[in-house]
Amino acid sequence: MAYTAFWANDRGNLNKNELAKLEKDGLDVIEDIYEYAKTGFESITPDDMDRFKWAGVYQQRPKDGHFMMRVRIPSGNLSSDQARVLAGIARDYGKDLVDITTRQAVQFHWLRVEQLPDIFERLASVGMSSFEACGDCPRNIVGNPLAGIDPHELIDTTPLVKELSDTFLMNRDFSNLPRKYKISISANIYNAGHAEINDLAFTPATKVIDGEEVIGFHVWVGGGLSARPYLAQQLDVFVRPEEVVKVAVGVTTIFRDYGYRQKRNHARLKFLVADWGAEKFLEKLKELVGELNTRGEDKIAGWNAGYFTGVHEQRQPGLSYVGLSVPVGRMSAQELEELARLADEYGSGSLRTCNSQNIVITGVPNEKIELLLKEKVLERLTPYPKHFTAFAVSCTGIEFCNLALVETKERMRQLAEYLDAHVELDEPIRMHMVGCPNSCGQRQIADIGFQGALIKTEDGMKDAFDIFLGGTLGRNAQFNQKLKGRVLGEQLHRAVLPLLAYYKEEKQRGESFFDF
Ligand code: SF4
Repeated sequence: MAYTAFWANDRGNLNKNELAKLEKDGLDVIEDIYEYAKTGFESITPDDMDRFKWAGVYQQRPKDGHFMMRVRIPSGNLSSDQARVLAGIARDYGKDLVDITTRQAVQFHWLRVEQLPDIFERLASVGMSSFEACGDCPRNIVGNPLAGIDPHELIDTTPLVKELSDTFLMNRDFSNLPRKYKISISANIYNAGHAEINDLAFTPATKVIDGEEVIGFHVWVGGGLSARPYLAQQLDVFVRPEEVVKVAVGVTTIFRDYGYRQKRNHARLKFLVADWGAEKFLEKLKELVGELNTRGEDKIAGWNAGYFTGVHEQRQPGLSYVGLSVPVGRMSAQELEELARLADEYGSGSLRTCNSQNIVITGVPNEKIELLLKEKVLERLTPYPKHFTAFAVSCTGIEFCNLALVETKERMRQLAEYLDAHVELDEPIRMHMVGCPNSCGQRQIADIGFQGALIKTEDGMKDAFDIFLGGTLGRNAQFNQKLKGRVLGEQLHRAVLPLLAYYKEEKQRGESFFDF
């Protein structure tokens, strides 16, 4: 190890996951997976099964030998060649399913251990990896999916995302953090990277230094969702682009060395930041990385919630990007293959995944737009989706997730479709559904959030949901608030209809759902 895991001397205060990580680093399991692929599912030890996360692989529900895999797509930047490889993996091994996650990654299901080496190699052949997409390490870096083509970004963050990703990926200095660790970097003025819900986030800012206006970033730490959600706190610091990696390494070092390792549910960076406060955190950061400039001018103008559907002009004159709706983030291998073809035939060969679980085709010359919009695959993955379907997000749920209490994805899709057929609204309502409090579907930031639970009925235990209203990020960031009561899954539409009717009736002009 390049650093000393000094907490190893305090074993009495470490949770069982920490002890397992000291026995064997999570990254060591990647080599072992090649062996397990030969010896079979039954030969995997329970500790190693847990370490599979560092390879981006989890057991899927029910635990019968199938796995799900998450693949990193930093800032959602995906080439057509990479998309074809992803589609091929889904077609050959994953029963055709491709899910876009709320962190711009892609998930496969139904994989078997003997297939993993081939999948790792297919991914590596196009510069992709599932490694450290899960586990107690820096996860896929999220950011502006439009980086490089965005009329609303201060600088192109593509090279920074790559440098940051390369710094942390497979880096054994940071492969044993107290818990998962999420980084966001975006220079989009509409907060495309969802800064406030990340452990570490960089958002666009400017500062006059030596008489010149410099473009750089403000830094946020300690955000995160799950059962005890926290909004990140902004540090009094302005960071030049060339300082981003240094600062990210500094913050991650603090998390590694001072983060809590006693209780698993009290280990995220957010708990340390909440205890220390932003000032003490910054002092420690400066001890590690040296002096930094104080805060400059914030350039966040609002929040686009990660939505880019429709045809829009790029920064490059004459070119447009086409944002497509992928209902609840799920598409087939064939659809992804088709999108790769469209990216090559009409665009610049590039696709972008969004944290709203949607996808974008970039670099389309304006004169080709009309023809592109006639392509068959865009009938379902349309740039002009109906309101509720367009803004519906869902986690994996009980279909594949071992922690889930209820079914989510198909339920969310059907609810959105029902509301599209029965409710007319002149503005979007963002709905997020999650199958348990872990909140992978980010229900806290939704206009209407649904969180799965179970209730006892005369006919036994049934799927039900707590309903939360009024979440948003950006200038007025706040998590949504729980309504009283719990609604049966089969009656969800009946609970939502009056809510929407009341909102429609009573809202003032220009008032959005979170004001209400
Ligand atoms: Fe599973 Fe819960 Fe995450 Fe949904 S929110 S994917 S149910 S852990």
